[in-house]
Amino acid sequence: MNRIILLGAPGAGKGAQAALIEEKYNLPHISTGDALRQNIKDETELGKFAKSFIDKGELVPDDVVISIVEDRLKKDDCKKGFILDGFPRTIYQAEALAKFSDIDYVIDVEVPDEIVVDRISGRRMCSCGKTYHISTYKSDTCEKCGQKLYQRKDDNQETVMDRLKVYHKQTEPLIDYYTDKDKLVTIDGTKSIDEVFKSIMNILK
Ligand code: ADP
Ligand code: ZN
Repeated sequence: MNRIILLGAPGAGKGAQAALIEEKYNLPHISTGDALRQNIKDETELGKFAKSFIDKGELVPDDVVISIVEDRLKKDDCKKGFILDGFPRTIYQAEALAKFSDIDYVIDVEVPDEIVVDRISGRRMCSCGKTYHISTYKSDTCEKCGQKLYQRKDDNQETVMDRLKVYHKQTEPLIDYYTDKDKLVTIDGTKSIDEVFKSIMNILK
C-alpha cells in the first residue's frame, strides 16, 4: 500500500510533491499546516489557538495535530493509502501515529538551510493551492485561476530562521527514528519539481 510520510524542512517542496502524488496515485493529501490555516481562516477556536504558535514559527502542541490526523485517517478515502505532509513533526507525534496507522514509505526531501531561506522568503501563494517564487514569476496574480497572490504571514526571513531551528531540533530526529524502522528513503530536494517527482515515482512503484 502507499501510506506515505513526506519529511523535510519547511520549504523543501513537500506540498508541491504531495500535490503531484495526489494527482497521479489518487491518494488524499493530508497537510496539517493547511488544516490549521483553514481553521484560522474560518476563525474556529482551534484556529485562534493555533495562530499564535504558527505566527511565531513554533510548533502547535502535539495533541492538537495528532487529533486532526487521527480523525482524517478514519475517513474512507484513506483506506487505499494517503500522503502525510508536515506530520509527524516530533517523535511524540510519530509514536502517536504508530498507534493508529502503519506507514509504508517515509520520504525525506533533503534541502540545505540556505536554499530553504531563499525559497520561503520569495514564496508567494494562491488560495487555489498553487505556489510561486518571485525569482521565476513576476506577475502578482495566479496563472491558473487569476486570483491575487499573497505571502504567508510566517514566510518572512525571521520566522523562517525560527522554523528552521525548530525543524533541526524537533523534526530532524525523525530521520533516525524511521531509519531504525527501515522506512526511510532520502531524495535530493534541490532538483526541479519534476526531477524530484521522478525520484518519488521510482520509490513508489
Ligand atoms: P512548512 O512546512 O512550510 O513550515 P506547514 O504548512 O507544514 O509549513 O506548517 C506551518 C506551521 O503550522 C508550522 O510552522 C507549525 O506552526 C504548524 N504545524 C504544521 N504541522 C504541524 C505539526 N505536525 N505539529 C506541530 N505544528 C504544526
Ligand atoms: Zn490560483
